[in-house]
Amino acid sequence: MDTMLQGGSSNIAELALLKRYWAAFMQSREAILFFKHGRLVDANPSALALLAIEDRAQLLALDILCFSPPTQPSGQCSEALGNAYIQQAFSKGEMALEWWLRDLNGREFPAEIMLSRLKLPDGVVLQATIRDISEREAQRNALLQREKDLLDVHRIAQIGNWVSDFESGEICWCEQVYHIFGRPRDEPITHDLFLLTVHPDDRERVQAAFNRAMRGAPYEVIHRIVRPDGQERTVHERGQIEFDPHGRALRMLGSVQDITEQTNLENNLRRLVAILDSTSDLITMHGPDGAMLYMNNAGRRFHGLPTTCVKKDDDLQCGWQRYGLPEETGSLSATIRRFHPEWAAQRIEQEALPTALRDGLWQGETALLTSSGEEVPVSQVIIVHYDDSGRVAQTSSMIRDISAQKRLEAQLAHSAVTDHLTGIYNRKRFDEEVDKALARRRRSGVNTALILLDIDHFKLVNDTYGHDVGDQVLIDITRLLQQHLRVQDLLARWGGEEFVMLLSDTTLADGFQLAERLRQLIAEHTFSAGAITASLGVTLLHADDTPSQCIKRLDLALYQAKRAGRNQVVEAVV
Ligand code: GH3
Ligand code: MG
Ligand code: MG
Repeated sequence: MDTMLQGGSSNIAELALLKRYWAAFMQSREAILFFKHGRLVDANPSALALLAIEDRAQLLALDILCFSPPTQPSGQCSEALGNAYIQQAFSKGEMALEWWLRDLNGREFPAEIMLSRLKLPDGVVLQATIRDISEREAQRNALLQREKDLLDVHRIAQIGNWVSDFESGEICWCEQVYHIFGRPRDEPITHDLFLLTVHPDDRERVQAAFNRAMRGAPYEVIHRIVRPDGQERTVHERGQIEFDPHGRALRMLGSVQDITEQTNLENNLRRLVAILDSTSDLITMHGPDGAMLYMNNAGRRFHGLPTTCVKKDDDLQCGWQRYGLPEETGSLSATIRRFHPEWAAQRIEQEALPTALRDGLWQGETALLTSSGEEVPVSQVIIVHYDDSGRVAQTSSMIRDISAQKRLEAQLAHSAVTDHLTGIYNRKRFDEEVDKALARRRRSGVNTALILLDIDHFKLVNDTYGHDVGDQVLIDITRLLQQHLRVQDLLARWGGEEFVMLLSDTTLADGFQLAERLRQLIAEHTFSAGAITASLGVTLLHADDTPSQCIKRLDLALYQAKRAGRNQVVEAVV
């Protein structure tokens, strides 16, 4: 086929030159095409392939601009911009440009184009040498994207990089470092200026870390900085110095991370742990799997475990320390059984934990075991902490030793029903026992006998020997009575110098006999106030009695004993 280059020349030398040029044109791996007045006039096989042109016949029908998308990535119109470049190439003779092309299949790609004005026998044409740079562009874009991603990651992690050139004395900060230090982006940074940004109290430490790095150690330091607006931040710096073969420090590369929020959280947690460790309540924290994360000092002291000492520089594992905790504390149920008696462990597992898991909180009384196996009553609060997605994040237990409170309650309950002088029960407790005995009588017909005892002429004892001796007589009579009553019998001080006795499972006759023996015992005993006698009334509880009815009968019997000359036992008339 006749081509633009082949046609027209008659000069032999010129023809030879053209032949060589033709061969190079046809074999070139670079796409080369020619156009004139905006229309293609020739293209080599590489150009046909690159632009998806079927054959040279097809190309003659094509306009040069049909190989460009309507606009370039800059947004400019391809036709206007292309014509301007063509004009420039015509006038300057040569022109290099980057251009987005579109082949006949519609694939768009970036290309480097060299436009050259060429004078041929039949007129001036433009030669375009085209290089597809889509692969190179893709690599460049991937690189740019990676760089951007890295910057984003640094921004998110609040990490910045810096390079300190020791020869020039300049420090080059990346944008993120300027951001962390709160300084204007274009400010030149030197080592002295950097030191000025460090909190005055931390400067010496930072300089010492730097000096160590100059001797070859890795540079690592956590310190505070003061931003120009006065705001304090905490940063973690890491770096490494590069030395030349003679050991001369060339430059230092490093990173800086803003750890203010993390440091604040850690400090808050340390303060919280210090508070928990100073309370007298026993506090434990458990992870979602039930393993104990923490036991405060009160708990450790109670269970005989080593106490912790949280210093400022301690590295807390998730804020909590398992240091010194026994192996069982790795599981919740083993922990419960290690520290609580069986009944309390069952209550915690069957009642407390299910309630706390349902309601978030349980409060109740359980017990702890001391290291020597002694049971201590405690009040316990269990709190379940949930995370944002509603899963159990932690469980806390707060335990207070209530043994002193329990002892006091028991003492109060005891003193409410006890006579202070003699230590035996008082009238209140006796009344309660009469009620119970009446119920027993009605239920199962069991007999209960009652005795009322009043010391004769006791006023005289007091008047003659004094009140203290009178008191001692009351105590001595109590002991005498106690010695002759059975375990199941109840002795109480009715008031003044009067005593009452409730004799379970006793007939009236047996009751009378006992009363008579007691009367004799007292009469025969020598008290500090000399000889003393007592008068006694005896009665039996009836099923249809009220407590006051039978007391009235007793009183009457006693009155009769007094009337009959004292030192007597009288059986109540029903
Ligand atoms: P009687 O033979 O009629 O029972 O004569 P009595 O002197 O015992 O008379 P009464 O029962 O009226 O008097 C009881 C006395 O007991 C009056 C009071 O001073 C004395 N008394 C009451 N409680 C106490 C006490 O706790 N200690 C002492 N020392 N005396 C008490
Ligand atoms: Mg009396
Ligand atoms: Mg009396």
